[in-house]
Amino acid sequence: MNGLNPTGESGFFEIAGVGSAMQRLIAELYPICRSITGNGVRKTLEILRRSIPLEVHEVPSGTKVYDWIVPREWNIRDAYVKNTKGERVIDFKKSNLHVVGYSVPIRRRMGLQELREHLFSLPDHPDWIPYRTSYYKENWGFCLNHRQIEALENDEYEVCIDSSLTEGHLTYGEYLLPGKTADEILISCHICHPSLCNDNLSGISLALHLAMLIARLPVRRYAYRFLFIPGTIGSITWLARNEGQVGRIRHGLVVTCVGDGGRFTYKKSRRGNAEIDRTVQHVLKHSGHPYVVEDFFPYGYDERQYCSPGLDLPVGCLMRSPHGSFPEYHTSADDMEFVRPEHLEVSLHVYRQVIEVLEGNGVHHNLNPKCEPQLGRRGLYDAIGGDSNRKLNQMALLWVLNLSDGAHSLLEIGEVANLSFREIKHAADALTRSGLLLEHGAITAAFPDD
Ligand code: ZN
Repeated sequence: MNGLNPTGESGFFEIAGVGSAMQRLIAELYPICRSITGNGVRKTLEILRRSIPLEVHEVPSGTKVYDWIVPREWNIRDAYVKNTKGERVIDFKKSNLHVVGYSVPIRRRMGLQELREHLFSLPDHPDWIPYRTSYYKENWGFCLNHRQIEALENDEYEVCIDSSLTEGHLTYGEYLLPGKTADEILISCHICHPSLCNDNLSGISLALHLAMLIARLPVRRYAYRFLFIPGTIGSITWLARNEGQVGRIRHGLVVTCVGDGGRFTYKKSRRGNAEIDRTVQHVLKHSGHPYVVEDFFPYGYDERQYCSPGLDLPVGCLMRSPHGSFPEYHTSADDMEFVRPEHLEVSLHVYRQVIEVLEGNGVHHNLNPKCEPQLGRRGLYDAIGGDSNRKLNQMALLWVLNLSDGAHSLLEIGEVANLSFREIKHAADALTRSGLLLEHGAITAAFPDD
């Protein structure tokens, strides 16, 4: 990998080394026991607030949000199963995955047979602890690796889950970076999983670092709304409280599973041909990384809610390996080894390029549309070729001139010309400086290193 830039390109944006910062944040968040409500979410947001001044919202239990009701708040202090010798044979303090999320409190003795009805394991992966929840049905249980279950002797066990399920709040974080226009780009990630890295923490870390990068832009055409929310109920709650302003969302991405080494997967918005769909596909196509594009389907993460038919927002989901496609998914093996700094960094770079396209995707007018203008007289041929990073691609110049008729965006020109957006944008900028091109109403952002 090129040390300066994960795609081997160079120039506009320096993020080398950010992968280790992304991984460090994951390591800090990893031990926290998160759920769809509770102090784990608050603690997580508090840590994010050290880097970005996000607003923390508290929505009371019982609040009606569309067809759902904000649930009671769940918190847990300790949980264990002790044998008659007083040994903790299952111990929440060793892994928060040991307790089924939203388990109701329990403290009593029982035999192995009764206990077994509340134990979950993965016989196919006997060393891994599964991740289970029971949010909307009152229940309790423990998850453990299959070898642990097999080792349990016929004994009387002391079962304790020191949890509380009480009227409280659903907590989420929101960070808005204003832009030159009221049009918004939505970046959404879920924050409701406990010690799971790719599913949940990688998305949080990428969204946070992307927010920090975008905050540095001196000019933003779009406003950026970052949501750190519990999955499903969080997006439903946010949408119910903000329905009046969702029309401002021009483009959106759900960020998840971006830390593994698998190929990129882009799941299109329900619209299928929105600008975000075309942008992500264009960036992936020119990224040099393997990728696959999927049509929208009504399952997965919060894109399910953003793309429900009554809202139909242009929100896709950009990930590496999708949920359920890797065996480590929803198990203790989705850990600090499974996500790697180098993968996180490449993922951030791809997101960064998506933002660059959205920010720079203007429509232009060729001011010399009758026959080709003489490029040599304007010094534009001198700038073609060579080894400079700033070299101009001649075909990009000619395509931009030909299709800048006020009807084609730069992304569309890149698609037709089969050239990367950066080449097209670079050509358009040079032609604009030469007085041959005029941008149609758009405000373009200049990134710091441009
Ligand atoms: Zn999950």
